[in-house]
Amino acid sequence: MGGLNILQVSPQLHDAQWWEREAHDKVHCYLCPRHCHIGNGQAGFCFIRTNRDGKLYSLGYGAPAAIQIDPIEKKPLNHFLPGTAVFSMGTAGCNMGCFFCQNWDISKSRQDQVNARDVPAEQVPLLALRHGCDSLAFTYNEPTIWGEYVIDICNAARPYGLKTVMVTNGYITRDAFHDIYDHIDAANVDLKAFTENFYGKITLTHLQPVLDTLLLLKKETPVWFELTNLMIPTLNDDPGETRRLADWIFNNLGPDVPLHFTAFHPDFKLRDKPRTPPETLHRARQIALEAGLHFVYEGNIYSNAANTYCPGCGKVLVQRSWHSVEANRLKEGKCPGCSRPIPGVWSKREAARFVS
Ligand code: SF4
Repeated sequence: MGGLNILQVSPQLHDAQWWEREAHDKVHCYLCPRHCHIGNGQAGFCFIRTNRDGKLYSLGYGAPAAIQIDPIEKKPLNHFLPGTAVFSMGTAGCNMGCFFCQNWDISKSRQDQVNARDVPAEQVPLLALRHGCDSLAFTYNEPTIWGEYVIDICNAARPYGLKTVMVTNGYITRDAFHDIYDHIDAANVDLKAFTENFYGKITLTHLQPVLDTLLLLKKETPVWFELTNLMIPTLNDDPGETRRLADWIFNNLGPDVPLHFTAFHPDFKLRDKPRTPPETLHRARQIALEAGLHFVYEGNIYSNAANTYCPGCGKVLVQRSWHSVEANRLKEGKCPGCSRPIPGVWSKREAARFVS
């Protein structure tokens, strides 16, 4: 990235957390529900956790493969510090195997195949502040698999008042969950579909662990979180499935968790499906609103459904064009028309209160 004085490096070994020894120099990684049993000299499914002589190491530590300044709306988060810039970074590898991955150049690479940079955890908040960011996002690939680096960056960021964001597939074990999320202020979680068939065949994982993570976020943390459902023609856009997904959110997470339906474009191993027609997103949004959800967005297309509307009086509260905020009419987190409180973290002052 231009302007950042950071060095290119080869992969370094960093002691990993969340593992145990097994017989014959094997190790068991229990960071994510894959529970890889890794032989000496081999790496787990995610590529960046490797067994050397019976010890597990993280390869992505201190070595991001992608760094960018993004609008927070791009994560997407529409109810968390709207209109602010977020220092966004990712490493190599992933613990899911999505055929439609839109960041496959890094998520499907080993750490030694990416153009990694040397960025110690303590340097990250300084870079973020220098670029006018209010928060840091762990994104682009799955941040769970580099949780050691995430935790150290969060600890380095706290004294500066920077907020922290996970953009995640939610595939994490309960054993590791609090170790990471106790440091996090906000998250966007992909709920990629609502069938085990899709998760099994298209992402090479399972649905239930993702739902379990959402329940943990709701019940055991103060983390502000929003959900994304990327709609892929014929694979997860059935109206009945959308209704079941929305009903589950309403019944388990409540009506105020924002849900983003986003448009797919052909990529990686899924090039035989067309782009998602805007009508599919409009229909999904209507279904979710009818199920009782209050904040349902459309993304990756130009749409009025990028705006935040008051669920009470229908007033446009935050007006957006693509990822940019054109107007923010909220008054201290309330609708200026009917005074209804709108759930979210609307200012840094509120963010401090929200996570206390
Ligand atoms: S984090 Fe990586 S090595 Fe660990 S269980 Fe998941 S996929 Fe396997």
